[in-house]
Amino acid sequence: MEIRAGLGYDIHRLEEGRRLFLGGVEIEFGRGLSGHSDGDCLIHAIIDALLGAVGMEDIGQHFPDSDPRYKDVRSTELLKKVVGLMRERKMEIVNVDSIVIAEEPKLGPYIPQMKKTLGPILGVRQDDLGIKAKTNEGMGAIGEGEAIAAWAQVLVRKIK
Ligand code: MG
Repeated sequence: MEIRAGLGYDIHRLEEGRRLFLGGVEIEFGRGLSGHSDGDCLIHAIIDALLGAVGMEDIGQHFPDSDPRYKDVRSTELLKKVVGLMRERKMEIVNVDSIVIAEEPKLGPYIPQMKKTLGPILGVRQDDLGIKAKTNEGMGAIGEGEAIAAWAQVLVRKIK
């Protein structure tokens, strides 16, 4: 059985007056992540991990920020497209693990909802989808609340 791993990372600046989306869930915060899309850096990290695992080009090549079709697009829609591309290549996801690094807001209470939102799109059970939230201990741009970052690791396999 062919098994492949993928790694993804993303970081977006926090901006006043934008809605905050993380893991496909809207979070009340007063500031949101900048970007051409909804700025959901957790989903973007997962997308890059998936694309990397199957040997495709990265998220910027698939969904360029010069393309008006992706202006303010929900990242859940981008993720659905990528999972579709993987299925065309007869690949399915074994598991996903991820970390979101944000000083604020407290993300722990939103993790169950993120898993409920992303699990069905990815086609994995809740047990096969890890989402962990950490702070940056007050250090650097993330620690000062200027940005939120995310890491994701995936394992995919060929569908028999
Ligand atoms: Mg991004």
